[in-house]
Amino acid sequence: MPDAAVKPVIVWFRKDLRLDDNHALYAACASGRPVIALYIREPSPAGTGPLGGAQAWWLHHSLVSLDESLKALGGALHLVSGDALDVLLGVIKSSGADMVVWNRRYDPAGIAVDTRVKRELERQGLEPKSFAGQLLHEPSRLKTGGGTPYRVYTPFWRALENSGEPPRPLDIPSKISFARPLSSGEKLKSWALLPTKPNWAKGFSDIWTAGEDAARERLSDFLEQGLDGYKDNRDFPAKQTTSLLSPYLALGVISPARIWEETRGLSVPAEDLVHFRKELAWREFSYHLLFHFPKLPYENWNGKFDGFGWNNDTAQFRAWTLGMTGYPIVDAGMRQLWQHGFMHNRVRMIVASFLIKDLMIDWRRGETWFRDTLIDADPASNAASWQWVAGCGADASPFFRIFNPILQGEKFDRDGDYVREFVPELATLDNRYIHKPFDAPKAVLEKAGIALGETYPNPIVDHAAARDRALKAYSAIKDAA
Ligand SMILES: Cc1cc2nc3c(=O)[nH]c(=O)nc-3n(C[C@H](O)[C@H](O)[C@H](O)COP(=O)(O)OP(=O)(O)OC[C@H]3O[C@@H](n4cnc5c(N)ncnc54)[C@H](O)[C@@H]3O)c2cc1C
Repeated sequence: MPDAAVKPVIVWFRKDLRLDDNHALYAACASGRPVIALYIREPSPAGTGPLGGAQAWWLHHSLVSLDESLKALGGALHLVSGDALDVLLGVIKSSGADMVVWNRRYDPAGIAVDTRVKRELERQGLEPKSFAGQLLHEPSRLKTGGGTPYRVYTPFWRALENSGEPPRPLDIPSKISFARPLSSGEKLKSWALLPTKPNWAKGFSDIWTAGEDAARERLSDFLEQGLDGYKDNRDFPAKQTTSLLSPYLALGVISPARIWEETRGLSVPAEDLVHFRKELAWREFSYHLLFHFPKLPYENWNGKFDGFGWNNDTAQFRAWTLGMTGYPIVDAGMRQLWQHGFMHNRVRMIVASFLIKDLMIDWRRGETWFRDTLIDADPASNAASWQWVAGCGADASPFFRIFNPILQGEKFDRDGDYVREFVPELATLDNRYIHKPFDAPKAVLEKAGIALGETYPNPIVDHAAARDRALKAYSAIKDAA
């Protein structure tokens, strides 16, 4: 039983829905005080946009799982919605707590809230303490020789590699003593995070299992079966060869330090190990960019793009979101997104290039759509990746590199397995035409039961013409001052 004379400590969970490698929880336990585990549903933060629908589904299940883990240890997750400072002050008042601990977050809206909370709690003579843990390294730590933030990934990676191994993860505390339960908590169900009418997330649970145990299982499966050969295999969407850890990382159900740790000492080819770690470093780099350029989710990094002549065609945007563009690899990706709340990285690049360059639709509309539909939606990785594909980001892919959706499909989905899975109306189409049904002879289409324009759309743009249009628009801005 906790000593009633000892004041409790509030562990404020946010993007760290885990017990493992949780520095704030660890510090709370080390303080010897009884713990109140708290999650606050904050109003949509300004700047990084509202919680997307798909991630709300994931958040619901991740909170259920965290609550179950806490219950197994004799505690529970206390849920309250509202402004973070108001809620904390309320819980402090009703519990007598005088210390609040949390792990830092690095999106601009989160930083603003945390700064305000810390200042006010300190002013009131309370003890707020924050810890690292969402990233391998603090995003402010690495600087170029000139003392400026990195803008280019490769030197960032080199600096990260040379800055020593990331701190080792902490295990789950061996004992957590919990404070008496508070009576004023809310029911998770009342937050209505799950879609109902219609329940468009039906297919998600076939693919995703929430919680720390599932994340650890996913990691060990990947290390046993996916890491060897990762560098060569990771670009093929029909094979399941990547880790699928991004949804867990997005809500902090597993920490990057734990992932890094588990990759130590494995007997796999060095090139695979390094390549995987380099992907984790892209996540770090994205946060480095967001930290130093908080407008990353909505402002062109490269201001030359401010005058770009984007096209606002609503029908084309809608066709893209629905996976009805007439380009099979694009449509398969956009439908995977609907069905799984996820899309393979190679296909994310293809569909993003298609939206920005073939349709010339503003990258911000794509970023917003992904934010609403990805369960791994992440303010840094999503924004940095969209700017990268658009060519307006830091260290961006040049604008003139325009993916050809047919060649990309033929290269990375040679047998069309990925397309067949997500675009079933093309399932029996001959391999030769699986990425270009519009070139198939009538007899081939008939044999596969396809009537273009009826059972599957004709292409909404001609790629060659769209490419020329995009290059012309780009030339018009590239020499701008
Ligand atoms: C347009 C676009 C939007 C994207 N939006 C997001 C997003 O909202 N959230 C998100 O987590 N990732 C995003 N990515 C990056 C990448 O597609 C996913 O991280 C990856 O597909 C997740 O699958 P995985 O966990 O199996 O990756 P793995 O290949 O197993 O990689 C391991 C981890 O490294 C990180 N990682 C891998 N590639 C990248 C990358 N290019 N940028 C940043 N981190 C990376 C992820 O945390 C990932 O879980 C986006 C990419 C593009 C092109």
